[in-house]
Amino acid sequence: MNPFPPVNQKTLLRDWRVLCDDIGERRAGSTAERRAAEFVARRWAEMGLTSVVIEEFPCTSLVSARSRVQAWSGGRWRAVEAQTLVGAPGTPAGRTVEGEIVWLELPENRAVLKRGALRGKIAVLFGPLPTRVEHHRQLVAAQPSAVIHVDERLPFPWAKSDGVYPAWVKRHGMPPTVTVPYTEAWQWRQAGVRQLRVGVRIVQRTALSQNVIAELPGTSPHLPALVLSAHHDTQCDNPGADDNASGVVGLLALARSLAAVPRRRTIRFISFGCEEQLSVGSAAYVAAHRTAMRRVGLVVNFDSVASPLGHLELWRVGPVALGTLAERWLARAVVGVRTSAEVSPFFDTFPFNRVGVPSLCFYRPNFSGGRWQHHSRHDTLANVSVDELARLVTAVAPFVRNLANRATWPFARAFPADQRRVVRRLGAELFES
Ligand SMILES: [Zn+2]
Repeated sequence: MNPFPPVNQKTLLRDWRVLCDDIGERRAGSTAERRAAEFVARRWAEMGLTSVVIEEFPCTSLVSARSRVQAWSGGRWRAVEAQTLVGAPGTPAGRTVEGEIVWLELPENRAVLKRGALRGKIAVLFGPLPTRVEHHRQLVAAQPSAVIHVDERLPFPWAKSDGVYPAWVKRHGMPPTVTVPYTEAWQWRQAGVRQLRVGVRIVQRTALSQNVIAELPGTSPHLPALVLSAHHDTQCDNPGADDNASGVVGLLALARSLAAVPRRRTIRFISFGCEEQLSVGSAAYVAAHRTAMRRVGLVVNFDSVASPLGHLELWRVGPVALGTLAERWLARAVVGVRTSAEVSPFFDTFPFNRVGVPSLCFYRPNFSGGRWQHHSRHDTLANVSVDELARLVTAVAPFVRNLANRATWPFARAFPADQRRVVRRLGAELFES
C-alpha cells in the first residue's frame, strides 16, 4: 500500500552531517546560515525539484557577545557561566555593573515590578521570560541594571542560548539580559549570595537571512498547494542537530520520496532562515507572497523531531477534521501522535495562521519541560535518532501524497473560533505588523 521505498538512513545521516559537522552552528545572518541555505537549494535542484529559489530578507545578526557574571560568595568573586540573549542590549559601554540581587518568581510576583523599583539592582528571574506583553513592560519599567534569567524548564548545569521577541524590544525596550545555569542559581540561593556583577558586551548588526523554496509541480496548478516546511538556522553555540537540522533533513527526505510519485497539487518545500528570533523568515515569506496565500491550502512543519526518547506531537491549527485525518494516516504507518489544538506562536506556521492558512506541526519533546537539550551545546548528532526521523518520514509521505492527489479535501479551511481569537491576540502582541 505504501508506494515509497524505505527511507535510506545513510542519506539522512549524510545530509545531517553536512548541516551539523561541516557547517555547524547556523545563527541568523551568518555565513554558516547562508551555507546551509545554499546546501538545501543544491540538494533540491539535484532531486529535480523546480523553481528552486533563495529569497533574502533582513534580520538582526549577532556578531559577537561576551557575558561576564560573577557572584560574591565565600569572601570572593566567583565567575559563572552565562549566555547572552540575542536581541537584548549590553550593559552601558559593555562595562560591568554591580548590584544587589532581587529574586523574582514570575509571573506571580510581578507586583514587585513598580516603576524604577529595581534601579541599581540585578533581577534574577526564575520562571519563563515574560510571555505577556504587560509583564514585559513592567519588567522594563522597573529598570533593573541587568536581568539574569533562570529557565525553570531546564534544571541543568549549563546555560541555554535564547532570543527575545524583536517586536517587544523595539516597542518597549529591554534590560541587558543573560541566562545562567539553573544549578548555579540554586547554589546562590543555598549559599545566600546577595551581590552580583554582570557585564555584557554585544555586537549585533543588520544582515541578510535566507528562505529556500522549491516545488514539485502538480498537474492541477489551480488547486491550493501544500507547503512542507522546516527551519535551518540555529541558536548560538550549538549545531542544532535536533533544532532543527532534523526538520530540514526530514524535508529533504520527503522531497526525495515525493518526487518519484505523480501529484495533482503542487507541493512547495520551504526551509526558513531566522526562525529562532520568532519566525522572522516565515513572516518575511508570508509578507512577500501575501496575495498568493489564498492558494496555499495547508502548511505542514517539522521542528525538532528526532529525539531518541520522546512523544511525537502534532499541533493542529485549523479544523478538527484536519487533525483527525492526519492521525488516521499516521496510524496506518503505526505511528501514534499526541495531538494539540493549542495555538503556538513559536512555530514557523504561525505567520501563515495569521493570514488564515491551516497548519500541522510535528514536534518531539522528550521531557515535561520540552526538550532537555533545548538551545544548548548538547543539541548534537549524539542526541538524535536516525531511526526516529526515518519513521516519521515514512509515515508522513503517504499522507502528503494522498492530500496532494485529492481534488477536494475532507476539511474546511476556517479555524475554530477559539483558535481564531488566539491567533489574532498573539499576532498583535508578538509581531510588528
Ligand atoms: Zn526550532
